[in-house]
Amino acid sequence: MVQKSETIWFDGKQVPWDEANVHVLTHALHYGVGVFEGIRAYRCADGSSAVFRLREHVQRLFSSAKILRMEIPFTEDAIFDAIVETLQRNRLAEGYIRPLSFVGAGAMGVYPGDNPVQTIIAVWPWGAYLGAEALEKGIRVKTSSFARHHVNAMMTKAKASGNYVNSVLAKMEAKADGYDEALMLDVSGFVSEATGENIFMVRNGVIKTTPLTSILDGITRNSLMTLARDLGYEVVEQQFTRDELYVADEAFFCGTAAEVTPIREVDRRVIGKGSAGPVTKHLQQEYFKAVKGDNPSYDHWLHRYAL
Ligand code: PMP
Repeated sequence: MVQKSETIWFDGKQVPWDEANVHVLTHALHYGVGVFEGIRAYRCADGSSAVFRLREHVQRLFSSAKILRMEIPFTEDAIFDAIVETLQRNRLAEGYIRPLSFVGAGAMGVYPGDNPVQTIIAVWPWGAYLGAEALEKGIRVKTSSFARHHVNAMMTKAKASGNYVNSVLAKMEAKADGYDEALMLDVSGFVSEATGENIFMVRNGVIKTTPLTSILDGITRNSLMTLARDLGYEVVEQQFTRDELYVADEAFFCGTAAEVTPIREVDRRVIGKGSAGPVTKHLQQEYFKAVKGDNPSYDHWLHRYAL
């Protein structure tokens, strides 16, 4: 269960958590036309709080809306400020932030017509997405029987609600089969991403991640590529196959929710030594330093706020 906060920002107003409701004929409930973000705020070492890469998340929300031809009736600055206001209103020093814009009730049928686009921002405390142990020891992963979206079937650069039916199917299958997460291949059979994370592998000291083609342009992926290059690692964006992953020295998933989660097993093949590898650990440590304001070089990624 999500831990309730006091209020949810709903189309410009702070509404009590239990009253932030919509009509059952909300278009997005039927057809999945909504766009959202997952953002984290962290308590910093100096006692302040900061949202990680807030500007980039808000920009991606608006890019997703553009792809879906949805007009969010607020400016990017207004949504940026509303996110900070909602954190402050709920006195949340650390946690998860979920903005969502969706096609509201009005006309039914596939064509959204001029149904209103509604927006909410919810915040709540949320620990490690795949569990604290996953962050330390790594997770077991299974290649999904579900292919990731064909790039002309769903818009993979949009963080669109409807896209996640594919993720939910893959995640349920992986969990039912006793795994922690699903590895998703694109329609050509190359490694794509996970249900809510991007993927990296390490072999012979080179860090490799999938090109943007069929994946969400992850902000954590982007941050880790910068961190890794700044630390002197070679990072390449290149397609790879599941069997290349089987023989990787290390592999990890990354995302705002999952942070940097080591992969210790794929399809019953142990990856590396079956625990978090040295490069993964190094990047995880540097990532946590950056998000928690412990590395001044990346202070420009933080939006600090007072409670
Ligand atoms: N891929 C998918 C499908 C996701 O849902 C997410 C989570 N937003 C990611 C990748 C990682 O993106 P980010 O690092 O921006 O959270």
